[in-house]
Amino acid sequence: MPYDLTRHPFPPAARRLTLAARTVLATAGDAAAGHAFVRVRLAEAQPGELAGFIAPGGGDHVRVEVVEGADRTETVVAHSVEEGWIDLDILVHSSAGSASGVIGPWAAEAPIGSPALMHGPKGSVVLTGAPGEVVLAGDDSALPAVRRYLGMLGPSVTGHLLLETHFGAALAGGAQPDPAGLGLVPPPGLRVSILRPDSSAPSAALAEALAALPPPADPLERFVFACGEQSLVAPARAALANWGIDVERAVIKGYWRR
Ligand SMILES: Cc1cc2nc3c(=O)[nH]c(=O)nc-3n(C[C@H](O)[C@H](O)[C@H](O)COP(=O)(O)OP(=O)(O)OC[C@H]3O[C@@H](n4cnc5c(N)ncnc54)[C@H](O)[C@@H]3O)c2cc1C
Repeated sequence: MPYDLTRHPFPPAARRLTLAARTVLATAGDAAAGHAFVRVRLAEAQPGELAGFIAPGGGDHVRVEVVEGADRTETVVAHSVEEGWIDLDILVHSSAGSASGVIGPWAAEAPIGSPALMHGPKGSVVLTGAPGEVVLAGDDSALPAVRRYLGMLGPSVTGHLLLETHFGAALAGGAQPDPAGLGLVPPPGLRVSILRPDSSAPSAALAEALAALPPPADPLERFVFACGEQSLVAPARAALANWGIDVERAVIKGYWRR
């Protein structure tokens, strides 16, 4: 059955939240020691802050300002307007053994109760229908979105899942620190490739794996999500062009920049 991808703009919204809880979902192995995935729960600073909040699309995201003047974009993992919370899974990336950046260290260490100003989502990209096959390609920053897409696509989806990840061992469930791990369980109809990240060429393995995939039997039936470091965008678009897929029917994005 063909699928549709529709883009819905939302009016601007800023909501005042506080850090209510954190769970370390997974830590990376030797080659990337110091990298971790931390789930943060942000709760309403006052009742009603989340009124009207929706994020129906697999990759819907918000901008979170945890330090004045510096915001970071994160995928909405789960939320409850009724209970007044939203969950984000933050990749804590490290350099020389200590967490680098703004939101990573905040997710890892900020005191419970710390304030966060959340903007958006600016809009939603909603997939309807059931694509005949999918290509989902992402690096660690895109794992939360890939997991949401998998949840929406259901257990009978077929196609390819390409993950360039430091967390291969903790995808479906890790022994520690959290037995649930990252909760990413690929359906049996997906061919899974776990690719080793190269810190000097992030997303290069994803680009190479995308280029090596066979073309679709019917371009209208292949849904493509490919998100990672900015350098993935050009080769992912080239793959779409080779396969005869309109870029508007795919989700291709640079999630961060080297
Ligand atoms: C639509 C969208 C959705 C996103 N969803 C998520 C999400 O759900 N979870 C998530 O963790 N990220 C997500 N990202 C990426 C997220 O915005 C960046 O990872 C974030 O900006 C990193 O912020 P930071 O403050 O930790 O580091 P920054 O201050 O932005 O960067 C500090 C240093 O770390 C490097 N760096 C930044 N990101 C990474 C990375 N991923 N891997 C390795 N080095 C990096 C930078 O190049 C820089 O040298 C998303 C991005 C977009 C555009």
